[in-house]
Amino acid sequence: MTASDPADLDEDLEVLAEWLVSAEVVAPFTGAGISTESGVPDFRSPGSPWLANRPIAFDAFLASAEARREAWRRKFAMDDLYAGATPGRGHHFLAGLVAAGKAPAIITQNIDGLQQAAGVPEERVIELHGNGTYAACLDCAERQELADIRSVFEASGLPPTCPHCGGMVKSATISFGQALPQQALQRAQALARTSDLFIAIGSSLLVHPAAGLPVLAKRHGARLVIINREATPLDDIADLVFNGEIGAICTRLVELSGDAGRSINYS
Ligand code: NAD
Ligand code: ZN
Repeated sequence: MTASDPADLDEDLEVLAEWLVSAEVVAPFTGAGISTESGVPDFRSPGSPWLANRPIAFDAFLASAEARREAWRRKFAMDDLYAGATPGRGHHFLAGLVAAGKAPAIITQNIDGLQQAAGVPEERVIELHGNGTYAACLDCAERQELADIRSVFEASGLPPTCPHCGGMVKSATISFGQALPQQALQRAQALARTSDLFIAIGSSLLVHPAAGLPVLAKRHGARLVIINREATPLDDIADLVFNGEIGAICTRLVELSGDAGRSINYS
């Protein structure tokens, strides 16, 4: 069932509101689409600056200082585009689900830290692709702040090295070709398996293994809901699909929940 017609939208949102109330464990799973309202571009939509500043693959990063320098140049170019981004309506909606005790954690492919900025405690955000708001040494794992790295990088033109061990320093994101953090992946899989309502929001559901999570949840008996502007390869197995703007859909969902006096307090 796909609710792209506004007349059907409220009806389907009423159904989702009921499912949210009856669910014991909700597993929200987010992609870049939840952050476009905040001004952070997604990866695949037309005109994406990520394609002009394509992230450098992990093996290339390791192989040459030139690639590392270019990776940092692109990283800072992207940061300049969305520095100061603040959470959108989708982030706030999900923060409400966590605060209401409905969702034990939010699984995200995003690296922008906006879910934490919306008030979700750090330990309740499962980041499958790391975090781009800081950096880390690849050898000793020591955290490094971007502002410090940037001033040294801009003064010297050299890729940063760790002040403690001399190792290579990289944005704390997971690059193409780099293994996913196993602990995060296991936590995400456990949440998917135990959820009774899995909601994928703003993801093209094309990147694996992350895109396997909705399938895992469904196989373990969860209802699957997809909220995304465009169709995804998993629409066929979903119980409800909303093709539209995430901010508007989440706002309407909260309104309808309030009108019906439902018990979830999203504030
Ligand atoms: P994606 O770009 O492949 O898909 C995003 C989807 O969201 C698209 O299908 C698009 O149509 C939809 N969308 C965009 N804005 C929307 C809106 N306002 N309302 C409804 N739908 C909207 O993103 P992905 O599936 O997350 O995969 C991209 C990869 O790139 C991820 O692994 C992620 O780590 C990384 N990435 C992260 C960020 C971020 O942290 N904000 C941004 C870009 C890319
Ligand atoms: Zn180090």
